[in-house]
Amino acid sequence: MTQPSSKALVPFVSVDNMMRLIHHTGLEQMLRDLADYIEADFRRWPLFDKTPRVASHSDVGVIELMPTSDGEAYGFKYVNGHPKNTSEGLQTVTAFGLLADVYTGYPVLLTEMTMLTALRTAATSAMAAKFLAPKGATTMAMIGNGAQSEFQSLAMKAICGITHIRLYDTDTAATEKCARNLANTGLTVTRCTSPEEAIQGAQILTTCTADKQNATILSDNMVGSGVHINAIGGDCPGKTELAKGILTRSDVFVEYPPQTRIEGEIQQMADDFAVTELWEVITGTKQGRRDAKQITLFDSVGFAIEDFSALRYIRDHIKGSDFYYDLDMLADPDDPRDLFGMLTRATPT
Ligand code: NAD
Repeated sequence: MTQPSSKALVPFVSVDNMMRLIHHTGLEQMLRDLADYIEADFRRWPLFDKTPRVASHSDVGVIELMPTSDGEAYGFKYVNGHPKNTSEGLQTVTAFGLLADVYTGYPVLLTEMTMLTALRTAATSAMAAKFLAPKGATTMAMIGNGAQSEFQSLAMKAICGITHIRLYDTDTAATEKCARNLANTGLTVTRCTSPEEAIQGAQILTTCTADKQNATILSDNMVGSGVHINAIGGDCPGKTELAKGILTRSDVFVEYPPQTRIEGEIQQMADDFAVTELWEVITGTKQGRRDAKQITLFDSVGFAIEDFSALRYIRDHIKGSDFYYDLDMLADPDDPRDLFGMLTRATPT
């Protein structure tokens, strides 16, 4: 492809190249690396621009923009959430993202983020569990065995030392797919026929279902003392997974309260319901797990800073590699004021 008139080319990571990068790095290593990048950004949380994501809702789903900046780089992700999509052969969640230089405003990276979102969500879950889950946890219940489930399971293995996964999904085909994908990963996998069976003996309970309603994936009487709940699927107004009673018995940890109060499990609670921000636990300002009996709950909705960390990671790791190609997506004439002249010179002969 010839690129005659623009010198500002933007590195682009396609889905194919993202998958090559993941295989080259090793999935579990990349999950650990991403968790390190996310943790580093949570440690400098106050300096980021923060806003609840900008959501456009429809009857069938949501399309969202998630921007943030650390003053040097600016990033955003475009992401959708359409639970009905899988029945039409489409993904529930797809995404792409962009990183830009704050000084010039020029984009420095455009990348697929459907794969990357699954990795960053799993890395964030495992990072939270590292600080909140009971010590020596070995077993996780994985309820909802869709696109995110293998990534969630492997991040908990790579970062928290989980060895056993207990799967449950209302669709047994999803459970079979997940069990098949997790074979030969070193995890011991048990297929369960009910959520009650899945949580037996589990110290970490992950809910990762997709349904645009206030569902009850875990009821109050199912949750005993001492567990850590990693609630992933409730991430939209009117879309929750946990019985309200669980929230009142748990210590709830969130990413960014103004967004989680709109989208998370705590949308069921009063506006002043007490929560702890995860970054404060990571920096040691607030306590995480106090004792072995406490129920800790990570009410995850996915926040822009996690995507920013993932974009930073990709920018840093594709330098000098063949995991990207350059896109001519920025008109950048030699004389900055002669945009029209650039167009004229491109007149077809
Ligand atoms: P998916 O559609 O691929 O999988 C969802 C699975 O949930 C399906 O297999 C479905 O059969 C199952 N399910 C639905 N109702 C259930 C029930 N009552 N009990 C058990 N299983 C049930 O979706 P996905 O990409 O894996 O995403 C899962 C959820 O996580 C979605 O709601 C998505 O919006 C959310 N998500 C959150 C974050 C975050 O950062 N918190 C990031 C990505 C996705």
